Amino acid sequence: MAVISEKIYAEVILPLLSGGYTYLVPSGLAADVMPGCCVTVPLGKSKVYTGVVRSVGTDPPPSGNLREIIAVQGDVPPVNETRLKLWEWVADYYMCSVGEVMRAALPSAFKPSGWSGEEVTGKEYRTPTETHLTLGLAARDEEALNEAFENLSKRARSQYEGLLLLVRLLGEDDPFGRSVPRRLADIPYGVLHQLQSKGYVARREVKAGPAAVASEFAGLPQLSPAQETALHGIREHFRERDVVLLHGVTGSGKTEIYIRLIAEQLSAGKDVLYLLPEIAMTAQLVARIRKFFGDRVVPYHSSYTRTRKTAAYMRAAASPGGTLIVGVRSSVFLPGGNVGLVIVDEEHDPSYKNHESAPRYNARDTAVVLAGMAGAKTLLGSATPALETYVNAQTGKYGYVTLTERYGGAVMPRVVVSDTIMASKRGERKSHFNKLLLDSMAQALHDGRQVMLFQNRRGFSPYVECGECGWTASCPNCNVTLTYHKSGRNLRCHYCGHSTALPARCPACNLPSVEPRGFGTEKIEVELEPFFPQARIERLDRDTATSATRFERIISDFERGVTDILVGTQMITKGFDFEGVSVVGVLNADNLLAYPDFRASERAFQLLTQVAGRAGRRQTEGLVVIQTSQPRHPVIAQAAAGDYAAMARGQLAERREFFYPPYCRIVGIRLRHRDAQVVRQAAATLAQRLRMIFGKRVCGPQPPPVDRIRGEFIENILLKVERDSPFSKAKKLLAAEITALRSGEGFRQVVVTCDVDPI
Ligand code: ADP
Ligand code: ZN
Ligand code: ZN
Repeated sequence: MAVISEKIYAEVILPLLSGGYTYLVPSGLAADVMPGCCVTVPLGKSKVYTGVVRSVGTDPPPSGNLREIIAVQGDVPPVNETRLKLWEWVADYYMCSVGEVMRAALPSAFKPSGWSGEEVTGKEYRTPTETHLTLGLAARDEEALNEAFENLSKRARSQYEGLLLLVRLLGEDDPFGRSVPRRLADIPYGVLHQLQSKGYVARREVKAGPAAVASEFAGLPQLSPAQETALHGIREHFRERDVVLLHGVTGSGKTEIYIRLIAEQLSAGKDVLYLLPEIAMTAQLVARIRKFFGDRVVPYHSSYTRTRKTAAYMRAAASPGGTLIVGVRSSVFLPGGNVGLVIVDEEHDPSYKNHESAPRYNARDTAVVLAGMAGAKTLLGSATPALETYVNAQTGKYGYVTLTERYGGAVMPRVVVSDTIMASKRGERKSHFNKLLLDSMAQALHDGRQVMLFQNRRGFSPYVECGECGWTASCPNCNVTLTYHKSGRNLRCHYCGHSTALPARCPACNLPSVEPRGFGTEKIEVELEPFFPQARIERLDRDTATSATRFERIISDFERGVTDILVGTQMITKGFDFEGVSVVGVLNADNLLAYPDFRASERAFQLLTQVAGRAGRRQTEGLVVIQTSQPRHPVIAQAAAGDYAAMARGQLAERREFFYPPYCRIVGIRLRHRDAQVVRQAAATLAQRLRMIFGKRVCGPQPPPVDRIRGEFIENILLKVERDSPFSKAKKLLAAEITALRSGEGFRQVVVTCDVDPI
């Protein structure tokens, strides 16, 4: 008997700019198509996309001619309801499409480009068992294994390397009979398959295990009385509030408190999400955490390979509870239905904010929203909280717990501000170093201790100039000077990557008088050598830490004392715990104060405090030398005194007076176009229209300090919205004005982006 069934429609999210795609659900798939599941759909003439079903229904959409869903990707874990809601919140709040959120949230292996099917076979991670690798029958003992290597070395390089990697992971001394989780072995799928078919490698399913029992974590750290009090305070606040700020000085042992809270959650069968700023995501922390939580830790990093990211995603999705995800910004989008606690460490760190492409989300704020949706708690930790967070804590919106002493009797470092101009006058300055800094360094090295030097610029010299005619080298694509890098003897643009040779003669006056000016980390490293010929000096910045491995190598060498002096950019400031450091030098704090940004002072305070926090983490008192030409600048004085409250009072008063966050919300609007005239006109038109709605809450247009990047001219407009007025309504009005502007004659090609809560 034929039943005339109703047609079923599915709204599908595609990783694209515009939203709202509706497809027909073929009757054969009706049982499988559900909100959150991944589907394959046709788009345009020949493209096939992976999309996520947002909703399913029987109401026909307005347009008639619909295409059908091709298939349901049963292997990909469905996006659960909370995550879908989170995606929508992010799209709505940060003014982008849900598709753009999807693009950031799903590992690229699930997305259309390069989607090959093979990489999406998530079967191995789906069940609450985990695939482990062991040596197969054809490599079951020393002799067989040697033979296996022999065979492979001649013909199959990648298989040889795959097997070698596995043996290393299993333990070279005795790899037999042991197993290692597949996700830890970065062996390509095809290679693994071949190794298996030759019998060299075997797979084994290992139960992921039920939620841990408390005794599993028996070796947890003993807390100091101060830490106990803080832990107790956090628990108390969590009874009434969803978010708590742990404001603990550097070296106070915030991590140990996290560890205790994590153990509680895991024991209760809950997942924990532990967020770290990009660069602090080091082997150092993961190793420390693994000691306690072993295999339950799922690390996630943006520089992971595609396969490893997919694996982490799959593991999070398949977690039966009791999994700890440790990751950077984007791991806020990892799945997992059972989150009990979210920790955001170094919550003030600007790298939580994605400002380069949509979604321009702040992972800290998104984490708070996620936890709220999931019925979980959020713990924000920092020695220098963002002023927004601090105000939330002061007003009682967040719980507030402080930790004012360092762990284990270590004392806060002594901070000395050293005047560069006075030092020059007195003849107590050589190269970029005041005598005070050089003497303290010499003493530290003599005592077998280590030194860290911080300079906010990389490269050798931030610009080169002709000593005769004043010509400077600038980028042909960007309105910025080129930085001289001595190692490659070239000039580079830090905005677009343009690179060119250092001219032997000035292109303007043809005299051989082009000279590097100013100084970056590379120059510091070079000029330091003659002062300390015996010392081993290394540099940590984007030019030396070109990969995660190199980054970790430099850190670990310093940690083990192989290096005596570490010179670096803000990369060295974050969360590291080095035992041997007794002197920290800031070479030029003036740089930090010079930014034309309302956050400059807050940022400078945070950076100086974080750098200083690396000194003297054990019993001996550390010394921090801050070189500056403005020794009396209030922020320098506040950082030197370690007086966060004074900084906050001063800055908050200014923010209130000039109406800046946290007393208002901001949307940064950026217009870009290759033609300066066009972009200026577009910006003026938009600003004028916005003024008709928002009046004097509109600031600009104004070109940013670097007003041309990659050949495009830039204009900025700032929209300030009162805290107590509806933000979403303001954003809708803004979005409508942008659409209107771009649909008008002449401005179609102008790119307009909005950055909500810019940092
Ligand atoms: P923070 O993150 O607050 O700057 P850390 O968590 O890095 O501080 O702690 C500083 C140092 O003190 C680390 O080496 C850490 O291992 C040690 N430490 C802190 N608390 C404890 C504890 N309860 N037991 C043992 N060591 C601790
Ligand atoms: Zn010249
Ligand atoms: Zn450039």
